[in-house]
Amino acid sequence: MAIKHPDHTFMKMAIDEAINGVKAGDGGPFGAVIVNKAGKVIASGHNMVLVNNDPTAHAEVTVIRKAAAALNNFELKGCILYTSCYPCPMCMGASLWARLDAVYWGATSADALKANFDDSAFHSFVKNPKSTVEQTWEHLPVENTFAPFALWNSIVDKTPY
Ligand SMILES: [Zn+2]
Repeated sequence: MAIKHPDHTFMKMAIDEAINGVKAGDGGPFGAVIVNKAGKVIASGHNMVLVNNDPTAHAEVTVIRKAAAALNNFELKGCILYTSCYPCPMCMGASLWARLDAVYWGATSADALKANFDDSAFHSFVKNPKSTVEQTWEHLPVENTFAPFALWNSIVDKTPY
């Protein structure tokens, strides 16, 4: 039986996950839950950056990886992500690649900033990627940059995604 999304219960679960993650010392104050349309929880998790020394272990990425493993599928069509805070560009990308049906966030970027989590520079960067004093971003074309795509295109019975 399908339930109506968004459902506040799942956002509260995501927030509880965020709190549990902080209490455990695992990472930043962020939690997430992935459920299906029927309201079954597929996976829940929180930020694991500190405990895993993994800068990509944001709550959303953590829970997407868990849900994909649980469903044995690299796409999460038919699933809904509830995240305790507005996603960073990486988590937006992960959510798009996961083909989630919907993403709902609780706290805003302004809330996160009050705890010194500021990803506004990253959001700006994605709109206009360019080198800065701290980091270099440049196109580096070489002779065979298309070779991996040519190989991919030549495979007839591949799993497309
Ligand atoms: Zn993120």
